[in-house]
Amino acid sequence: MRVMKRRRVLVISLIVLAFAMVALAAVLMHVLRVQVVLSGDSDLKVNVGQPYHEPGAKAFLGSSSLPLRLADLEVRSSGKVDTNKLGEYRLKYSANWLFFESSSTRRVLVVDTTAPELTLKGNAEVTINAGSDFTDPGCSAVDNLDGDLSQKIKTNGQIDTLTVGDYVLNYEVKDGSGNTATAKRTVKVVPVKQVSQVNPGHKVVYLTFDDGPSRYTGALLDALAARNVHVTFFVTGSGDPALIGRAAREGHTVGIHTFSHDYKKIYASKAAYLDDLNAINSVIAAQTGSPTHIMRFPGGSSNTVSSFNPGIMTTLTRDLTNMGYYYFDWNVESGDAGRVKTSDAVFNNVIAGIQRHDVSVVLQHDSHGFSTEAVGRIVDWGISHGYTFLPLDETSPQAHQRVAN
Ligand SMILES: [Zn+2]
Repeated sequence: MRVMKRRRVLVISLIVLAFAMVALAAVLMHVLRVQVVLSGDSDLKVNVGQPYHEPGAKAFLGSSSLPLRLADLEVRSSGKVDTNKLGEYRLKYSANWLFFESSSTRRVLVVDTTAPELTLKGNAEVTINAGSDFTDPGCSAVDNLDGDLSQKIKTNGQIDTLTVGDYVLNYEVKDGSGNTATAKRTVKVVPVKQVSQVNPGHKVVYLTFDDGPSRYTGALLDALAARNVHVTFFVTGSGDPALIGRAAREGHTVGIHTFSHDYKKIYASKAAYLDDLNAINSVIAAQTGSPTHIMRFPGGSSNTVSSFNPGIMTTLTRDLTNMGYYYFDWNVESGDAGRVKTSDAVFNNVIAGIQRHDVSVVLQHDSHGFSTEAVGRIVDWGISHGYTFLPLDETSPQAHQRVAN
């Protein structure tokens, strides 16, 4: 009976003890906790190529609800950051105590925040004369990660080299991470140098010769040299260009008359006219050492051969003047491009014409031999009658006719 009772007590005690231990374990599991605390932020960014500084972590055995810190624990970390490669890296920090274990994770982003380097080739400000060519020298771009990005540069902006004004070219380039670099260039289109007009006085004759050089130009230059008289040649791409150089060296004025003298071509548009003008001006520059801004429109500014393109002469006379060109017409006609076919008729027309004007700008063509043959006689008559023969320059009267298109 006593033995029975004692065994029952033992069994009950064991059951109670078991319950107590389970309860204690439950309480411990609930209260005790391994805690891993990151030093620094759980999200870090590091620039590509820069070193990554690991801030580390601490671990201890404590409580989730009480300010308990029972023991420091050792932290094990895993994961790696490659700062030479863009991307997201995860670092894991863990610690354990008996069967209690915990971990924390840090996210490290290797990013590129460095914009490419955009470098202008040439000057940031460029000044060009109206009507001359402009070629954008462009830029180069290098990125810390993507290398040479020069081919990816975008250029915005237009330059109208025919219209005076300030223009801006904007350059932009993006690297693979979207970092943008920009640059800009100002292009100033300026009018060529202007000279104020002066009146050279009375009894002045400007002989002008269009459409050459030709096979008659050499003899004409000889006749003028013999009389020490200087005239003006409005030249084209025909004939021997060396005669242009010779005329300039001998003191004559060389002006532009367009390269092709092809009405359909040159009066098709302002751009077409400028192209043709620039072509002959290059020849002139090569022969004389510099381009000129003295010019005459084929057919004159009052021509109607250009009427297939309404308004072109109004545009050209205005815009070329704004660009700094001086265009000359004439007030005395020799008639050598029309009905007149003899030297005598040319002589008579010119002599009659210059007597009606204080200042004469005479139109002849050195593409016609009968016209150039009259020049010696014209000059001799003029000098003996008190006339002065001068070459045109930027200060000379331009003898403008009324624009009719
Ligand atoms: Zn002509």
